Amino acid sequence: MKRAVFPGSFDPVTNGHLDIIKRSLPLFDEVIVAVLNNPEKQHMFSADERCEIIREIAADQGLGDGRLSIESFSGLTADFAIKKSAAAIVRGIRAVQDYEYELRMALMNRRLAPGIETVFVMAAEEYSFVSSSLLKQVFSLGGDVSGLVPDKVKARMLAKLSR
Ligand code: ADP
Repeated sequence: MKRAVFPGSFDPVTNGHLDIIKRSLPLFDEVIVAVLNNPEKQHMFSADERCEIIREIAADQGLGDGRLSIESFSGLTADFAIKKSAAAIVRGIRAVQDYEYELRMALMNRRLAPGIETVFVMAAEEYSFVSSSLLKQVFSLGGDVSGLVPDKVKARMLAKLSR
């Protein structure tokens, strides 16, 4: 049973994240999307909301066939991956800028959790410029984010902004 953990902030989940989830599912028996709950960081959505959004979208898109689960966690990704007996930590690589940070992170995680490999999955070209932070920035200034997030996520963002 090969289980992978895909950790991140997912604030909110984008089509880029979903692309990585879809590419990861055929590689593992089970994929856990691990939503980091970091109270020190300013988030648009709470960890519970972020999980709920991903669950809803995953159900809408029929992802995983029962092999995909979504959980929030706090603390070290390595500790969460060990607790879940994961074989791998999945991370997405968009462009060369991601590589330097991700390499350091992967080596640190290998030190903290020997035996758990970080597996990098390349983003689809059409989403390689998409990040949750850029998306929020553009959205808050009135820019159109259609096609970069599922419509339901856009609606959630709109509701959040108008509050
Ligand atoms: P973190 O704060 O841990 O980077 P993110 O939610 O920003 O959390 O990203 C989680 C993971 O998803 C990271 O591995 C990141 O590289 C990947 N990712 C983010 N956006 C995209 C995208 N557009 N395409 C592919 N992978 C992405």
